[in-house]
Amino acid sequence: MKKYVFVTGGVCSSLGKGVAAASLGNLLGSRGCRIAMVKIDPYLNVDAGTMSPYQHGEVYVTEDGAETDLDLGNYARFTNSELSRNNSITTGQIYQEVIKREREGRYLGRTVQVIPHITDEIKRRIILAGNDPAVKVVIIEVGGTVGDIESIPFLEAARQFINDVGRENTLFIHLTLIPEVAGKELKTKPTQHSVKELLEIGIQPDVLICRSPVKINKEMIKKIALFTNVKEDSIISAYDVNTTIYEIPLIFHSQGLDTIVIDKMKMDCRNPDLSGWKRMVETYNNSTETVTIGIVGKYINLNDSYKSVYESIFHGGIANKVKIKLVKIDAEDIENSSDISSFFKDIDGILIPGGFGQRGIKGMIQTASFARTNRIPCFGICLGMQIMVIEYARNVLNYPDADSTEFKPGTSAPVISLLEEQINVSNYGGTMRLGKSESVINKGTKLYDIYKSSSIFERHRHRYEVSNLYRDELAEEGLIISALTPDKSLVESVEWPDHPWGVGVQFHPEFQSTPINPHPLFSSFIKASKDYGKR
Ligand code: GLN
Repeated sequence: MKKYVFVTGGVCSSLGKGVAAASLGNLLGSRGCRIAMVKIDPYLNVDAGTMSPYQHGEVYVTEDGAETDLDLGNYARFTNSELSRNNSITTGQIYQEVIKREREGRYLGRTVQVIPHITDEIKRRIILAGNDPAVKVVIIEVGGTVGDIESIPFLEAARQFINDVGRENTLFIHLTLIPEVAGKELKTKPTQHSVKELLEIGIQPDVLICRSPVKINKEMIKKIALFTNVKEDSIISAYDVNTTIYEIPLIFHSQGLDTIVIDKMKMDCRNPDLSGWKRMVETYNNSTETVTIGIVGKYINLNDSYKSVYESIFHGGIANKVKIKLVKIDAEDIENSSDISSFFKDIDGILIPGGFGQRGIKGMIQTASFARTNRIPCFGICLGMQIMVIEYARNVLNYPDADSTEFKPGTSAPVISLLEEQINVSNYGGTMRLGKSESVINKGTKLYDIYKSSSIFERHRHRYEVSNLYRDELAEEGLIISALTPDKSLVESVEWPDHPWGVGVQFHPEFQSTPINPHPLFSSFIKASKDYGKR
């Protein structure tokens, strides 16, 4: 029988439910148990594609092109589970499906209601995500906080699961906060209340994961157990770590989380093999050198907007046995400054990430120019690559008006444009290129050195392309076009000539990097930055 673990959150949001769920997935995986991870987002948006990175953080893109919540990125980095559009469920999708069926007359005249029609559709989607017969455990993270109006149908569906598949095949993990109040005293009251709220809807949590600034002691665990009916040994202390989030599975394991889950659901699993994971954490902890990377983007203020990029840089650090210091620079601050060099005094490498819209573009172009002419390692991703092309066209090809039609529709030198705007391709539409596709790398390029292969598969999320009208001219003036789509119709990457490391890629390598398998582009970029730091 398949097992279903629901991870809910209490007290407040942003406690790290995604990392907690992913850490359990990691531990079960280390015991040879195939898992599927599901994220439920109780908002009405159908997917995260239209949501602002400012409000919601990064949009994570799966291989099959779903635009999802960034927690799927955590699942990808912590676990080996497969992720597709099936693994991301939103209220919008659930209602869309139920209403579609209602319009088709498939409810045969019955009144369509939240219970059972919406809850049935939620359960159908959860089961679908774990459909692969090899999957033993489905871990479902219910977004939001218990008590929110939005998450009620999902919690109701989770409660119904107990009857549908049996109590021994379901497990409820509740993540709560033990805040510290004046006098450094830890308080359990919010946790008691939040468990009560779960009980009210018929769910008795089996495991509590308690977030707190410091480890909670035995006495406190006793008290929480008394008020919540959760066994003392099933109360896990998730105290703040000042090393790396990748240590969290090890912290949970040391408190027996995986054993508790396996025992409660009467599962048969082998002993965990965490040796590779431990080595990776030790490599990080033992690194003494630091490489400083400057990120020049427009969504700098929110920590999560470039989540996968930040993590991938960190993985590149692990690959090179160095710690990473990230310096986040708002591209608009560069535009407004008279001395651009002041931003990059102590920076060993510059990364220009993806993005949409006009704001901050000027500062990014100034940054690319500064990195190219001062021979600073520079990595452009998606929008970042487009910026590198625009800068090259302006300053090397001498087209001062060079631009993307996204930012300047009437430009006289549209080096980046929609395919339909390029006269030799028609009828392509302004649709987004999304998901995994192949690129073919030219031998003799830096990119080939990095991937050691001419055929690679990476994920995309963009509308605009390097214009084929300017491709030859850019190449004649030295810009190296190092990869194309297999039909040679689109540019996938560029490199600066006579430069230690200036690489722009149209795709998003950050979605494939993990701490155990750092992406080769990030490893190479951090190595170049480390070398540059020793200048
Ligand atoms: N705005 C650019 C485009 O749509 C780049 C997108 C991105 O960086 N993800 O092509």
